[in-house]
Amino acid sequence: MKEDMMLKIENLKVNINDKTILNALDLEIKEGEVHAIMGMNGAGKSTLVKAISGHYDCEIVEGTMQFKDKNLFEMDVSQRANEGIFMSFQNPVEVPGVNNSYFLKTAINEKRSYLGEEPMDAMQFLKHVKEQTSKYEIDNKLLQRDLNEGFSGGEKKRNELIQLLLLNPDLIMLDEIDSGLDVDAIKTVANVINGMLDGKKSVLMITHYDRLLELIKPDFVHIIHNGKIVKTGDYKLALELDEKGFEGIGIKDETQ
Ligand code: ADP
Ligand code: MG
Repeated sequence: MKEDMMLKIENLKVNINDKTILNALDLEIKEGEVHAIMGMNGAGKSTLVKAISGHYDCEIVEGTMQFKDKNLFEMDVSQRANEGIFMSFQNPVEVPGVNNSYFLKTAINEKRSYLGEEPMDAMQFLKHVKEQTSKYEIDNKLLQRDLNEGFSGGEKKRNELIQLLLLNPDLIMLDEIDSGLDVDAIKTVANVINGMLDGKKSVLMITHYDRLLELIKPDFVHIIHNGKIVKTGDYKLALELDEKGFEGIGIKDETQ
């Protein structure tokens, strides 16, 4: 495998509840690249990022998936996270009774232990939180509450950003992180992502909107249809889609 490869997916077939959702999907992401995934509702976008993160919904039927030089199919969800894969959920789950700060500190220390590093104590953790969130003026009071419990849509997304900043992954996957966010919040998302991009980290983001892509310029735009990538282009493809719609660029919804 080439030195700078982050993720390489070949001939991926994924079932959910015995229904084939992704089929014959290929995707390559190199270090430092930003990829956007677009497609109609139900096309399989969320399923793709779930399959990469190792979500239990996904049954891998066929294909290969390499992250750096490792076979992802041999790793469970937490190993993949520890290896540097992060996914921001379209609908983050509420976990009452689990303190958000405790959850995050545990996740960070699991990753550190996996990498053979010393755990962070409470003081170091607080300092780390302050340093990272203050760079982007993100309010970190959410950490005192239970994980996502009673969080508004915007607060859940902000919490995902805090997790992202603190876990400092190599592959950042964002599933419609911009949906339901106002312009200022979308700018914060973009500032965080752009601030983290260092030529080594890669991004795979799902979005329907041009605004996020304007702020985080993708190197590649892929369109998923019927469970596979049917078109790949650069940022201009997103602009063309925005202007002409799916049918206008030759993608027809046969289910309607
Ligand atoms: P997208 O994110 O592109 O809108 P998804 O990947 O969420 O699409 O879903 C692709 C298809 O898989 C849809 O037809 C959806 O109904 C189906 N699907 C997703 N999750 C499940 C599930 N847990 N059980 C059954 N079907 C599912
Ligand atoms: Mg989705």
